[in-house]
Amino acid sequence: MSKLKKHQIGTILGPSIESDLNQNGSLSDAEKDMKFNQIADEYLKCIKTASKQSNNFIAVKITGLSDPGIFKNLSLTLNSLNEIFDQFDNDQDGKLVKSDLKKLFIKIFGESETHLIDKVFDKTDSNYDRLIDRIDYYKILLNDQNILRLIMNKSTKMNQKMDNNFNQLLVRLDELCKTARQYKVKILIDAEQSYFQPSIDYIAMRLSLRYNNLLDEDGPIIFNTHQMYRKDSASRLQRDYELLRRNKSVFATKLVRGAYIVGERSRAKKLGYPDPIHDNKESTNKSYNGAVEFLLSKLYENKRNLEVKNVNDGSSHDLNVRNNPLEFMIASHNQETIIKACEKLDQFGIDLNSGAVYFAQLYGMCDQITYTLGHSDYPVYKYIAYGKVNEVIPFLVRRAQENSSIFDGRATVEQSMLWNEIVNRLIFWK
Ligand SMILES: Cc1cc2nc3c(=O)[nH]c(=O)nc-3n(C[C@H](O)[C@H](O)[C@H](O)COP(=O)(O)OP(=O)(O)OC[C@H]3O[C@@H](n4cnc5c(N)ncnc54)[C@H](O)[C@@H]3O)c2cc1C
Repeated sequence: MSKLKKHQIGTILGPSIESDLNQNGSLSDAEKDMKFNQIADEYLKCIKTASKQSNNFIAVKITGLSDPGIFKNLSLTLNSLNEIFDQFDNDQDGKLVKSDLKKLFIKIFGESETHLIDKVFDKTDSNYDRLIDRIDYYKILLNDQNILRLIMNKSTKMNQKMDNNFNQLLVRLDELCKTARQYKVKILIDAEQSYFQPSIDYIAMRLSLRYNNLLDEDGPIIFNTHQMYRKDSASRLQRDYELLRRNKSVFATKLVRGAYIVGERSRAKKLGYPDPIHDNKESTNKSYNGAVEFLLSKLYENKRNLEVKNVNDGSSHDLNVRNNPLEFMIASHNQETIIKACEKLDQFGIDLNSGAVYFAQLYGMCDQITYTLGHSDYPVYKYIAYGKVNEVIPFLVRRAQENSSIFDGRATVEQSMLWNEIVNRLIFWK
């Protein structure tokens, strides 16, 4: 960390914790709880280490903090709720009137819960237009855990044990967020496989509503991650931005292309559902660059609004973490993407110290980009995946495999850098 700091490079510390379905199968419930608590403790230690320097981040894979089955079930529920919304949105304008919402509730719960409708509708329809759009609908689930629990009970037969596990997960995450706030460290929530991702997004949004209040002096604590290789990523990005904006919370995200392409494609093929990933690299690039442009244009809009406000009330505030509802990290090794983003930042006159935009690369990859950005005063970070050697090496090897199968001409340089990194760690281990 201190070596990087000398070159004006910050650190993202990421304990190498991986989780997937059918993992932990042989453990008893008590052993699983113990394992998840140990992982939470590891993240707490990680926050304290990261705090030794100012403005550092930690990266959290939240599926490591509870039974992966919970994330899968919640994701299935959230996906089917989206489909149900579409079924009742007769004119496909993305909005439901109250009578449609009532029919939707009856479809989910039967007649038994219709008494909830009035309360839910009035609480959600904050602009009193008597319509519920997709963002309001999502907010119902974010606000009211009882409704979500009722739905999960119905749709996935969630039992008491799973319910307790879910609550424990939220308690663990709450403790991490409070500690991060205390130590002034920010939390990046890593994105994972698409069958977990709706639940990760859901939890990240709940935490953002709680820990990214626009009035917080130190700026947002929670950064979610958007994987732009997914076909639905642009609409998810816009939904999350709009939801947090409406609720006076800061939208903060790490933009990545996505690391699970091989597994995603083969799972979709094997189970016979549409491939969620863009068909080719060009579409992923377009989607990623489009997301950077979308967020930069929102940033510019915020800057312009602030300038108008300055003129109106005679103040002279610059864009900073106290007045800016949007922060994002361009987490990429793609030179073209990075150059384009730097040019736009310059064109829009966004101050590099505003705390609105960060860049990041993985440790052991594209050092030439990271060091150049650092030496040119751009806020730039290295993501250091650390842990026991047998836990970290698979992460590095996966990167090397990913590069060899799908990267462009940069692959040979990257492969040799990655190989050096693997060898360094093995020598250090000995
Ligand atoms: C700081 C940091 C944090 C990260 N965190 C996460 C995370 O939380 N979750 C996560 O999933 N990944 C994460 N990644 C990895 C990231 O998603 C990419 O795998 C990696 O950065 C390579 O993309 P690139 O933009 O750097 O490079 P590029 O070479 O421009 O892009 C390579 C990427 O393009 C996409 N691609 C390649 N070929 C095709 C094709 N034929 N069709 C469609 N798309 C294709 C893939 O996503 C591939 O990884 C992170 C990366 C960084 C730098």
